[in-house]
Amino acid sequence: MPGQRVSIEEAFTAHHDERLTAERAYELHWADLLPADARFTCVGTGCGAPLICACLDKPEQNLRIRPYFRSYRLEDHAASCEVAHGRGESKPDKRADVFEAERPADHFRAPSTPATTDPAAAPARRVASAGTSGLKPRASHYYRLSSLVQKFLEHRRDKDLDTATVEIGGETVTYDALFRNIFRQKAADHLGTRAVWWGTASLRATKEGGYYLRFSRPFRHDDIELRPTITLTAKDIDAYPVRRLLRARLDKLIAEADGYCVVFVWAKPWMPKDAEKPFVRFYVNNLDHIDVRGPEILEELKNTSRRA
Ligand SMILES: [Zn+2]
Repeated sequence: MPGQRVSIEEAFTAHHDERLTAERAYELHWADLLPADARFTCVGTGCGAPLICACLDKPEQNLRIRPYFRSYRLEDHAASCEVAHGRGESKPDKRADVFEAERPADHFRAPSTPATTDPAAAPARRVASAGTSGLKPRASHYYRLSSLVQKFLEHRRDKDLDTATVEIGGETVTYDALFRNIFRQKAADHLGTRAVWWGTASLRATKEGGYYLRFSRPFRHDDIELRPTITLTAKDIDAYPVRRLLRARLDKLIAEADGYCVVFVWAKPWMPKDAEKPFVRFYVNNLDHIDVRGPEILEELKNTSRRA
């Protein structure tokens, strides 16, 4: 079937030891734990089709560019493979996605190595789901806000933002309620609102090796407008496992878009009490909780808007 390409979300590592999502493969690649040419195999029943992960080495993500697994040829899949040949069961993504505020301690490690090269370590590292083939409905777990932003863009395109849900910070909310554009909202009303605040911003590198972001659209406060700021320190970035991806994305935006970007941050807006000159900041304690994207996603957001 020429032209037909199946976009696959999960795969086994080449030695069938561990089942990975494409997002996790992407993170492991950018944490220098998985090479760009890593091989995978299909999770379909009775299927061992070799897969590669597309877009693994691309620092940017949008609706067209995102990591996914694919086979070389559709014929590589077994006849019994439900991944390639239709999905009889209910779609797995009806469940709420889960956003974990913290990663498990062993999150950043290379995928399991085959027993022949590492006999002592391999059995212990084997994950519980190893060897489980087929499509089972199960929740997707995310750790990096960028993964949720990707889902937000997809749900917005599919016009189901108000029904698709995500479990975050102990609550289950719709994507519609979680993502909030800061534009002209009253800052003082939202100091207790932890949400994914987003808006256009300008980005620059600081002399100290960090980054400074300033939203170009403001919050309202009495009769003035306040443009929130975010500082990412070099120290925090250096301690962040996916720092190579973060720096590559930010440096690319500065080089190609003069720092014009769209910021998403999972945080509460912060204002000083009784300051002579009020201002708003977002504090990002965990760099997994910020995502910075190129201005091309504004076009995607506009084109997919339900409220034209
Ligand atoms: Zn298959």
